[in-house]
Amino acid sequence: MSVDAAVEAVRRAGGIARTAQLAKAGVAKADLTHAVREARLLRPRHGVYVLPDASEATIEALSHRGAVACVTAGRDHGLWVLDDTDAETTHTWVRAGYRTTRVAIHPEPDQGSCCVFHRDHPLGEPELGRVGVLQCLVQILHCRGEEAFFAALESALRQGLVDAPGRIRLRRHVPARCRWLVDFARTDADSGLESLLRLRLHKHGIHLASQVPIPGVGRVDFVIGDCLIIEADGDTHDGPARHRDRVRDAAAMALGFVTLRLDYAMIVHDWPLVESAVLAAVGRNLHRSVAGLTW
Ligand SMILES: [Zn+2]
Ligand SMILES: [Zn+2]
Repeated sequence: MSVDAAVEAVRRAGGIARTAQLAKAGVAKADLTHAVREARLLRPRHGVYVLPDASEATIEALSHRGAVACVTAGRDHGLWVLDDTDAETTHTWVRAGYRTTRVAIHPEPDQGSCCVFHRDHPLGEPELGRVGVLQCLVQILHCRGEEAFFAALESALRQGLVDAPGRIRLRRHVPARCRWLVDFARTDADSGLESLLRLRLHKHGIHLASQVPIPGVGRVDFVIGDCLIIEADGDTHDGPARHRDRVRDAAAMALGFVTLRLDYAMIVHDWPLVESAVLAAVGRNLHRSVAGLTW
């Protein structure tokens, strides 16, 4: 074996591996030591090796003998993380009872302010370097609240990261008052914005049909009642898409629909405005069609 082979073995393991696991693959300890000396591998803590392109958060968490957790792990799993204003701060899970002193790369005592620490019991065995999706979701619920949890959960369901048994398990591990969120979550939410919108309007007793195909218009994000279309635009609605959106709105209007077009900043940062617009439209019965549309 060689340093090259040691680096390759860590790469094959997904960019992070324990010494024991590498030894099984035939990697010699001396080659790992050489690879670290040549900065081709990092050893954020005793017995764990990562490629140098590992995220700073992963290295930070490993240096505490922990794993990335909560919103940090959520981003890593590809979940939708709501209004991530402190994306710089690593959320780190350590086993209850572990001291959070960094053990390898930063020998100075940790003051406890570098990371947000989570010390919950593992839900399933954490992966090396990050907690599993279910544990991550429970942490987001406790750390960021119900809306962030719900949006992250729907994105996990959509991506197939939480299956039906996983959903049952998750339900058991959240407080009783939050279980309805697990039941209410759908597997087909197109974006976190949609999740948020549906959850917030549900609290007003307003039901949204999502991803509704309308002949001559196309698939719209939501319809309230018979004919009030709500579109939740992401970043991709500029340029030619902007024109397409206007054409859709006009085609919908010709069929008797009314479109309310919202975007990320409005839904996340200016909810009172969105809420009053939707409630006013519903109050004026703009969601009820006199044309008796039968879509
Ligand atoms: Zn957290
Ligand atoms: Zn830290």
